[in-house]
Amino acid sequence: MGLLSGKRVLVTGVASNRSIAWGVARAMHREGAELAFTYQNERLGERVKKLAAELGSTLAIGCDVSADGDIDRLFHRLGDAWPDLDGLVHAIAFAPREALEGSFLTGLDREAFRVAHDVSAYSFAALAGGGHELMRRNGGAMLTLTYLGSQRVFPSYNVMGPAKASLEATVRYLAENLGPEGIRVNAISAGPIRTLAASGISGFRKLLDHAQQAAPLRRNVTIDDVGNAAAFLCSDLAGGITGEITCVDAGYHVIGAPPL
Ligand code: NAP
Repeated sequence: MGLLSGKRVLVTGVASNRSIAWGVARAMHREGAELAFTYQNERLGERVKKLAAELGSTLAIGCDVSADGDIDRLFHRLGDAWPDLDGLVHAIAFAPREALEGSFLTGLDREAFRVAHDVSAYSFAALAGGGHELMRRNGGAMLTLTYLGSQRVFPSYNVMGPAKASLEATVRYLAENLGPEGIRVNAISAGPIRTLAASGISGFRKLLDHAQQAAPLRRNVTIDDVGNAAAFLCSDLAGGITGEITCVDAGYHVIGAPPL
C-alpha cells in the first residue's frame, strides 16, 4: 500500500513534464493518490490533460488564480466530482520578466510588485480558502513551493524574494487558522531546478552551477527529490508537521561560504 492510498489530491502548476508540480504528481500517483489538475489557460489545457491522462486522471480544470471567479468555479467542479479533498498542492508563481532582470529596483514598479504578490503568494491563501471546505470531514494537507530567495538575496530573483517571504508567512498563518479543522499547511523550499518559470530569471544557469558546487551533497535537486518530500508531507506519516518550511535543496541553505 502506498503512502497516499485512498487520498485525493489537487495539483496546480503543471506546465510541462519539467514542472516541479509534475514531479510532485508523479510521486503522489506512485504512492496511490488519485489526482486532479488545474491549468491556467486553454492554450496549455491540452498539454495538461495529456499529462494528467498519463497518471490516470481525467480531471483537469481551468483556473487562472488571479481571477476569483475561476477559483470559485474550480472548487464547485471539484466538489461535483469528489466528495472530499485530502491534499492541495500550490506550485504557482509569476512576476513580469522585466522585474527578474538587473538589480532589485531596475524593473520594479507598483504593478510588478502587485502581480508578483498576487499570483505567487495571495493565490495560496485564495486556494486554501476555497479548498478547505472540501477537507472539512477528514482534514487534509496543503503544500506550497518556495525558494531561499525569501530570506537571502539572489541575483535577479528581485521582487520574487518579498513575494516568497509573504508566501512563507501565509503558510504559518494558514497553519494556525486551519489546524483546528485537522488541516496541515506546509511548504517545500526547493533548490534551483531548470523549469519554464526558472528560465525567466536572468542568469539562472550560473545559479544552478553555483548551487551544485556549494551544496553539501554537491548536486542540484530534481523534481523527483521534491516530489518524494511532497508525498511524505501530504501523507499521514507527516501528521504532526504543520506551519513548516522544509528545504529540499541538497543542503545548500546551511552553507555560509562555499568551499574555497
Ligand atoms: P513552471 O513549471 O513554469 O510552473 C509554474 C506554474 O505556475 C505554471 O504551471 C504556470 O502556468 C503557473 N502559473 C503562473 N501564473 C498563473 C496564474 N495566474 N494562474 C494559474 N497558474 C499560473 O515552474 P516551476 O519552477 O515548476 O514552479 C513551480 C513553483 O516552484 C513556483 O512557485 C516556483 O516559484 C517554485 N520554485 C521553483 C524553483 C525552481 O528553481 N524552478 C525553486 C524553488 C521554488 P503557465 O505556464 O500557464 O503560466
